[in-house]
Amino acid sequence: MRSNWSSTVDLGGSEARPGSAADVANLVRGDAPVLALGSAHSFSAVAVTPGLHIDTAGLPADIRVEGTTASVGAGTTYAALGRELHARGVALAAMASLPHITVGGAIATGTHGSGDAIGTLSSAVTGLEVVTADGEIRWVRRGADPDFAGWVVALGALGVVTRVELEVEPTYDVAQTVFAGLDLDVVEAEFDAVFSAATSVSVFTRWRPEPDAQLWLKRRIDREGAWPGGPAFGIPERQEPLHPLEQLDPVHCNPQLGQSGPWHERLPHFRAEFTPSAGDEIQAEYLLPRSRAVEAISALRPLHASITPLLHVTEIRTMRADDLWLSPASGVDTVGIHFTWHRDERIFDVLPAIEDVLLPLGARPHWGKVTLATPEQVRAAFPRWDDYVSLITAMDPDGRFRSPFVTRLLGASG
Ligand SMILES: Cc1cc2nc3c(=O)[nH]c(=O)nc-3n(C[C@H](O)[C@H](O)[C@H](O)COP(=O)(O)OP(=O)(O)OC[C@H]3O[C@@H](n4cnc5c(N)ncnc54)[C@H](O)[C@@H]3O)c2cc1C
Repeated sequence: MRSNWSSTVDLGGSEARPGSAADVANLVRGDAPVLALGSAHSFSAVAVTPGLHIDTAGLPADIRVEGTTASVGAGTTYAALGRELHARGVALAAMASLPHITVGGAIATGTHGSGDAIGTLSSAVTGLEVVTADGEIRWVRRGADPDFAGWVVALGALGVVTRVELEVEPTYDVAQTVFAGLDLDVVEAEFDAVFSAATSVSVFTRWRPEPDAQLWLKRRIDREGAWPGGPAFGIPERQEPLHPLEQLDPVHCNPQLGQSGPWHERLPHFRAEFTPSAGDEIQAEYLLPRSRAVEAISALRPLHASITPLLHVTEIRTMRADDLWLSPASGVDTVGIHFTWHRDERIFDVLPAIEDVLLPLGARPHWGKVTLATPEQVRAAFPRWDDYVSLITAMDPDGRFRSPFVTRLLGASG
C-alpha cells in the first residue's frame, strides 16, 4: 500500500496512472470510489481513499503560455513548471517552501507561500479542466462560472483536475538574505514592519525564550532591490547559508547571501533536486486572520517547554486575502503559523494546547497537515462551507469522489 511522502499516512486503495483526460474519464465511469493523487506530500488524510487513486503524474505535461495565462497539466510539479515558465519569460507570484509538489495537489489544499501582497497558490488559478462524476470533461473558469470560487480548493471532492490555467506575469529575479538571532519580542512589536521588509518574508523559530528566530527576506530585484547590507531589526546578516532546521546542511536550500536569481529558485526555500525540510517529520499549520497574529504569537510563547523538545521548527508567513471558499485566506488577510514536528506521537499531546489558543482566534487548520480540530470546529472556520457542501452534493450526488476525510468533515450534512 502506498504511503504519503513522510510515511506517516497509508493512502489505501489501488492506483491507476492515466495518460489523458479521456483516460481519466473512463476510469471515473467505473464503479469504485475515485480520488486524484498528486505527489502525496500531504500529512493529513486528505489523499486517502479505499477506492482508486488517479495518479496525475501521467497526464500530459505540456505547458502553454498565452499572454498572462499559462496552461499546465495538473500532475506537473512546480519545479518543472517554474523552470519552463522562466525559460518562456514569465513567472508566478507565489511558490510554496518546496517545488516538489504538483499543481493539482497544491491548489486543491490551499497551499501558500509568503508575502503581504501575495495570494495563495490557489488564488493564481483562472481556469480548471475537470473530469466530473458523470465522466464528462469540462472547463470551469473565473468570471464565467458563478461557483468558480468553490472549485479550486476542493479537496478532490469535485473531480479530477486534469489541466490548470494560471495567471502569470513577466519573469523577475529575487535575492534572499537570512538573518539569525531575532527576538520574538521584536516580531510582536514590529509585526507589520518585519513582514513588509521584503516581497516574501518568513520567520522561523523554535519558541525558545532566547532570541532564536531566523528572518528570511526574499526581495524582488525589479521592485525593491536586494537587501542593501547591514543588520535588519538589529540582527546581523548571515555570511554563510543556513538551513531553517539549523542542524541540517544548507546545500538543500536555494542560494541565499543576497545572490539574485530567478523567482522559482528563490521563493521556495528548498531546491528541487534535494529532500526538502527534514523528511522525518509531521507538519501542522494554522491560518489566522492577520489581525490576530500578534495575539497568537504572544499566547503560544509560554508553551515553549512542551513545544520545543518535539519541534524541528515553526515558520510564520503572511498571505493576501482571496475569495476562494475553502482557501486558508478566504476573505481575510492571513498569517500562517506552521509547525514542523519530529515524527513523534507525543505531538498529539501538545496540539490540544496549541489549538486551544489558536482556534478561538479564528484559525483554520491547513487541509494538508495534521490537526485535532473537530469537524464542527473546521466547518465553523469557513463561512462558505455550506456553499461548498451544496456544490459537491450537486456535482457528485453519489459521492464518487467523497474521500473518508471529506465524509468526516461533512458530518450529518453529508
Ligand atoms: C516538506 C513539505 C513542505 C511543505 N511546504 C508547504 C508550504 O510551503 N505551504 C503550504 O501551504 N503547504 C506546504 N506543504 C503541504 C503541501 O503543499 C500540501 O500537502 C499539498 O497538497 C501537496 O501537494 P501534492 O501534489 O503532494 O498533493 P497530494 O497530497 O497528493 O493531494 C492532496 C489533495 O489534493 C487532491 N488532488 C491532488 N491532485 C488533484 C487533482 N489533479 N485534481 C483534484 N484534486 C487533486 C487529492 O485528492 C488530495 O485531496 C508542504 C509539505 C511538505 C511535505
